[in-house]
This record gives sequence, structure tokens and C-alpha cells, in this order.
Amino acid sequence: MSKESEPYDVAIVGAGVVGCALAFELSRYQLRVSLLDKNYDVGEGTSKGNSAIIHTGFDAVPGTLESQLVTRASRRWPELARKLKIPFRQNGALLLALDGDQARQLPKLYKKALANGVDDVEMIGPDELRRLEPHAAPTARGGLLVPRESIIDPFMVPIAFAEAAVANGVDLLLGRHVVGVASASEAVKMIIVDGDTPIRSRIVVNVAGLGSRRLTETYRGEQFDINPRRGQFLVYDRNTGSLIERILLPVPTAKTKGKLVTPTIFGNLLAGPTAEDLPLDDPEATSTTLEGLLDVSESAIRMCPPLSNHRPVAAYAGARCNCSGGSYQIRVGDGGHRGMLTVTGVRSTGLTSSPALAEYLVERMQREGWLTRTRDLTAGDGRPATAWPGWWLHPFDNPERVAAHPDYGRMLCFCEQISRQEIVDALDSPRCPPTLDAVKRRTRALMGRCQGFNCLIRVAELIGQHRGMPLENVTKRGPGSELLPHGNPAETMTGRTP
Ligand SMILES: Cc1cc2nc3c(=O)[nH]c(=O)nc-3n(C[C@H](O)[C@H](O)[C@H](O)COP(=O)(O)OP(=O)(O)OC[C@H]3O[C@@H](n4cnc5c(N)ncnc54)[C@H](O)[C@@H]3O)c2cc1C
Repeated sequence: MSKESEPYDVAIVGAGVVGCALAFELSRYQLRVSLLDKNYDVGEGTSKGNSAIIHTGFDAVPGTLESQLVTRASRRWPELARKLKIPFRQNGALLLALDGDQARQLPKLYKKALANGVDDVEMIGPDELRRLEPHAAPTARGGLLVPRESIIDPFMVPIAFAEAAVANGVDLLLGRHVVGVASASEAVKMIIVDGDTPIRSRIVVNVAGLGSRRLTETYRGEQFDINPRRGQFLVYDRNTGSLIERILLPVPTAKTKGKLVTPTIFGNLLAGPTAEDLPLDDPEATSTTLEGLLDVSESAIRMCPPLSNHRPVAAYAGARCNCSGGSYQIRVGDGGHRGMLTVTGVRSTGLTSSPALAEYLVERMQREGWLTRTRDLTAGDGRPATAWPGWWLHPFDNPERVAAHPDYGRMLCFCEQISRQEIVDALDSPRCPPTLDAVKRRTRALMGRCQGFNCLIRVAELIGQHRGMPLENVTKRGPGSELLPHGNPAETMTGRTP
């Protein structure tokens, strides 16, 4: 029997940040692993709509799995970001007490941070606060300084994990909508894929985020509900980037961390998110609303008053996987089936915790005797610096590179200063689907203040030329999202892999 016809050791359903981190962790061992997603790129679910913060876990509930994973991962991120070539900055956070009531909560939050092992926090008074962040709310009574809170490129996290996993031999199978898992109690399970041949695997990990509930029903796992908790954001222009250095946090409530204002790794400011509980499977979970955005704007101006002079350039919403069973629900042997692992409710901290959660899941699978961890000595632990330029490298600033490739000097996106060759390099990078969104997340073209008004057609033309497809078949995110109404979904060249 050829290796290809043998079942996988592990099949991961869901290529969000958690699935991609798990694929990377498993790829370091001698295991045959596949990573499936219904979308045509990795990180197209909740993982593309968050606050982009690597938390320290200072405000988590002490002793919970979430607190343990977040604090562990937070210490690993500086090194991991370096190895995986993910833009990351430890700029710190300042939690603001905006009134007397909130100021009285600071000592409690300080003690909680210590209980979570975050021992470098500091309570500061209003004078120090104003010295550190002159544009923060002038009425603030004091704050809590959290030096290791960090910002990261959130899109690059699942991309980097997936690229590193693929380089180590993981099969990334995009455009595969999993409709169920059959023969879950057997040693080899059948993953049923809509319109495609089933995939066989000894272990199946359901990390399908908002889709995890429906999948669980097909193998009779323990039941739960997911009410998406929507978070709406406003994105400000780059000229706001110098207003604050640190992440400005509100005092958290029992339900939410609250609406923050943060610098992004891209040089602008971001405000949000709201916390709105929506009905089960609500299709509007990632739509923005006028009320929601006004709410974000008001609270952003309260935290950082100069923002009242700036108009946002974009808005988006993400949907947290808010599970009735609670956060970080990990069901090993779900439904009484050996080899079935359900992971759900990774609600508000999954971007941070993903590497530690992946390690934890592999340990659990080993402890159950489902797999043995024999290191693959040929497996890499990062991404090569030379894989493709990355928006942060600005090759147009390097005369030698421009001389060698004049297209690095031909700007295609003026807002974010992205050259034509960078788009081509992204399209040539491992597993980049030829969609506008995939190119956008890798290069930042279409992300600037014009939001694609000036460059969308030029980016689409380049995708079409480079991948040999007519312009009308270029899509936003795969079949069904053709750029022009007369595009032909059947002929759309997609990122479906391999
Ligand atoms: C508003 C907001 C702010 C946040 N801020 C932060 C933050 O600052 N820091 C932080 O650490 N975390 C933050 N988070 C949390 C973090 O974004 C999530 O915990 C994380 O993205 C969850 O990743 P995931 O892989 O579990 O889910 P997802 O990213 O949703 O991945 C699940 C994947 O499964 C796929 N899928 C679903 N059903 C199927 C199916 N039937 N077949 C095949 N594929 C399927 C989906 O397409 C998707 O790609 C925030 C979240 C939100 C919403």
C-alpha cells in the first residue's frame, strides 16, 4: 500500500490559528498529518477578526486552563515570532481607571495579575500615567501598567504556522467543507467532505471554531451551543499611529475585556471590540452595525480624546466562539470515541494561546496512547527569512533589490507602499491562494486608507496575469465571490489544494 493511500495519523478540521498551530506542532514528529478547511485560505474564520494582541493573561481567571495556556504562550511569543518571521512588538499596555469606582478596582486587578504569574505589573498614579501616555484620557485617576502585553500581525500568525507545517510535510487541504465524521468509533475514521472523496484518519481533531457544534452532532459528541459574540472594530489612519505607544485597556467586566484602543503593528490605531451575543449560527455575526460602531467610537474618544479629530478609514467585525459549556472546552475521546478530539470555546485569547494549546493537545493525545511523539529530525522550527519579502521589509528601500528586480520599485498600493513584485512574491509563496483577500493579508495591499479604491483592479489584474485566468474569474475569497458579476465560478482557479 502506498503511503498516500494509508490513513492519516491525525486530521485537523479547521485551519484557524488553533488548527494551524496544532498542524505545526504535530509536524515536528514522525506523523502523517492533514489540515482541512472549508475556506480557500487559512485563518479565514474568527482568526481574521480580532484585536491582534498577545496577552500576558494578567486578567484571566487564575487556575483555569485558559490562564495557564495564555501565560505560558505569552512567554514563548517573542522567540516564536522571530522564528516564524511574524511582526511582533512588546509595547506594553496601560489599563486606565476612568473614575473613582474603577480606580478602586486596580488593587484587585494587580493581585489577580500576580496570581496569574504576571509579576511585572505596576500600579501607577495619574501623573505617571500622563507622562507615559500624554494623549490618554486626562481624567484618568490612575492605571495598571502591564509591560509585556504585545501587538502582532494577526493575519501572519496562521499563515506562518501553516507554511512551516507544510514545509515539514503536512497536507494542507483547502476548499474542503467537512459535513461530518463517519465511523467515529472505528480505529480509522472517515471524514466526509462535501463533493469530494472522504479522508481517512486514525485521529480527528475538530477545531472548527463556530462550525465545531454542527460537526460534533455528526459523531454524537457531547452537545453544546455556540452563540457568536460579535466584536466590532474601527480602524484609524496611519496619522494616528503616534498618538499612543501602549495598548490602552479599560477595566474589564465579568463578560468582556472591554473596548480598547491600540496601536497596530502596521503603524495605525485600532479601537474596539464590542461584545454582542447573537443567536445560534447567526449569519450576521461578522456584519458591522451603525450602533456598534458609534459605541466603539465613543469609547475610543473617551480613552484617547484626540481621536475625535480623526475619521476611521475602515470597520470590521469578528465573531467569538462563545460556547455554552464555557471557554476552552477540550473533549478527549468525545462521544466515547477513542481518537475523536473536540476543541471549542476558544473565545477571546486563541491568537495568544495557540502555540501552548497546540502543545497541550499533543501531550493529551500522547497521554491517551493515541500517538507516540518521535521527533522528525528533518523538521524545521520556523520559516526561512528568504521565503518571501513580507510587507515589513520594504524592498523598494533597498537599491540593490530594485536594481535586480525593477518591479520592487513600481508601486502598486500607494497607501501601504507595496510594490508590484511583492504581490508576485506573495502569490509565489507556499500555498497562497490567488484571491484578493489572501494577497491582502500577506502584503497589506488594499488595507490602506483608500481600502482598495485605487489599487483593487490593478491587484486583480496582476493576480489574473500571474495565475493565467481572466479578470472576471479573480475572486475575493474563492468561488462564489467573483470580482465581476459575469465571472464563472466553475472555471475560477482557486486556492484549493493540493
Ligand atoms: C472581536 C475579537 C477580538 C479578539 N481579540 C483577541 C486578541 O487580541 N488576542 C487573542 O489572543 N485572541 C483574540 N481573540 C480570539 C481569537 O481570535 C480566537 O480565539 C481565535 O481566532 C480562534 O481560532 P480558532 O482556530 O479556534 O477558530 P477559527 O479561526 O474560527 O477557525 C476555525 C476554522 O474552521 C473552519 N471550519 C468551520 N467549519 C468547518 C467545516 N465544517 N469544514 C471545514 N472547515 C470548517 C473555518 O473556516 C475556520 O477557518 C479575539 C476574537 C474576537 C472575535
